[in-house]
Amino acid sequence: MKGNSRIILMPRYMANFKCTGPGCEDNCCIGWRIEVDEETYKKYRRLRRPELAPLLEKAVTRNRSNPGPRRYAKIRLKPDGWCPFLTDERLCQLQLVLGEEYLCNTCYVYPRNFNEVNGVIEKSATLSCPEAAKLALLDPRVMEFDEVEEQLGRPQVIKSRLNTLDLKWSGRPQRYFWELRVFAVDLLQNRAYSLEDRLILLGMFCRKLAEYAESGRAREIPDLINTYNRLLDGGALRESLAGIPAQSTIQMKLLKELADQRFPLVVKNTRYLECFAQCLHGLQYTQEAGVEEIGERYAAAYADYYRPFMESHGYILEHYLVNHVFKNLFPFDFDRNTVFDSYIMLVVHYALIKLILIGMSAFHKGLEPELAVKLIYSFSRTVEHNTAYLNRVLDLLHAHRYDTMAWMAIMIRN
Ligand code: SF4
Repeated sequence: MKGNSRIILMPRYMANFKCTGPGCEDNCCIGWRIEVDEETYKKYRRLRRPELAPLLEKAVTRNRSNPGPRRYAKIRLKPDGWCPFLTDERLCQLQLVLGEEYLCNTCYVYPRNFNEVNGVIEKSATLSCPEAAKLALLDPRVMEFDEVEEQLGRPQVIKSRLNTLDLKWSGRPQRYFWELRVFAVDLLQNRAYSLEDRLILLGMFCRKLAEYAESGRAREIPDLINTYNRLLDGGALRESLAGIPAQSTIQMKLLKELADQRFPLVVKNTRYLECFAQCLHGLQYTQEAGVEEIGERYAAAYADYYRPFMESHGYILEHYLVNHVFKNLFPFDFDRNTVFDSYIMLVVHYALIKLILIGMSAFHKGLEPELAVKLIYSFSRTVEHNTAYLNRVLDLLHAHRYDTMAWMAIMIRN
């Protein structure tokens, strides 16, 4: 292997990813916060380039609220939401004049996401980038993963590290991270079951896994996985799955309330606002309308438009979930306390996207892959990158005891 090249594990779509820059339909240098790492901030302060120094001085300022090496400073956006270093041709002035090495880690790495598991670097993309979203979501084939030799420019951009062989994981579920990941991805890609059933089955498994974790039975996890694989292969759980009823109105009402929690935190992405408005318009979600009435329209839109679309395009949400599982080191998402909390947040992402797509399908009297991608990337940009919102949603679900498998089934089943 050459210089600092490494073997990198990645979903196959990453091999084809290339930023479209000026041609991008929703440029990531516009409209959202840009955190600057300490090393780059100090590099800017040492810079003696009169053509850039005044702008760097003015536009790159220290983070006063809980700064850290990764978020030491920020780039203050212009009133129109543009990064002040973005030229009218939508090119980055810092990169043009100084070169890629003067980009801060946020700009250097986005939309890529790097983790390290047992010394192997893993690369995937956040689907808040429309280009990455198209590549990841629109291929009908099962998502594959490859090991590729690549240069790892900046090791400091690695977000999370997990060494399952570390002594601290002895007798803990983390020791079986790979077995659990393979089980979760295989289940989510098992097209012998509907995507709703796959998610419910994964929840039943995670519920059991959480019990094993809480009761010190982690060493029995391989047996638990084998048991579930036998049950899945034998179809033994199909009858109980069929018995889980749809509660569309309760689902719609709960998800709408959760979606509404995002707006007080200011939503800037116009594409997401368009999609959400179409959802409300499609369901005629007005103050005057009764929740039962809207619930009936929701169930009808699901049956008439959403389900027929997903019968031929179900891979779009399957890929979204598999990418989430890979990128977040599921079920040990780095910002969740328990494996079941990781599962709850997986369901919340899926269910909120489905709510809005069902409403949009009523508005458009059907769905197209492009519409689904527009919603999923703008949703990812508006929701996935907003830790405060996601934490608030999880706290609300815990506080109202909507954190059980029964409530997850309500959010999933239509
Ligand atoms: S959103 Fe993606 S494609 Fe668009 S400019 Fe950013 S990285 Fe490039």
